[in-house]
Amino acid sequence: MGIKIDQTKCVGCGECVEICPEDVLVMEGKRPAVRYPEECWWCDACEMDCPVGAITVRFTNHVGPVFLKKEEDRDEI
Ligand code: SF4
Ligand code: SF4
Repeated sequence: MGIKIDQTKCVGCGECVEICPEDVLVMEGKRPAVRYPEECWWCDACEMDCPVGAITVRFTNHVGPVFLKKEEDRDEI
């Protein structure tokens, strides 16, 4: 599983950090960052609350969150 945050879509509103029931996500400057990925219990709240659809929670070959900076990076996961 993985949490994917598309930084090209993120507007830095902080909603994902606010809604997360754990301390998985934190704001670092104007963008969310992952602090404790092992605490994620995949509730999907961050994905549902993001106003611009920048977060996707889904199965991947990776364990833990993955940050996407470019659209083409998506296809590599
Ligand atoms: S899926 Fe739930 S627990 Fe995991 S980062 Fe998102 S809001 Fe937090
Ligand atoms: S809710 Fe979405 S737009 Fe807002 S900070 Fe989180 S990832 Fe960025």
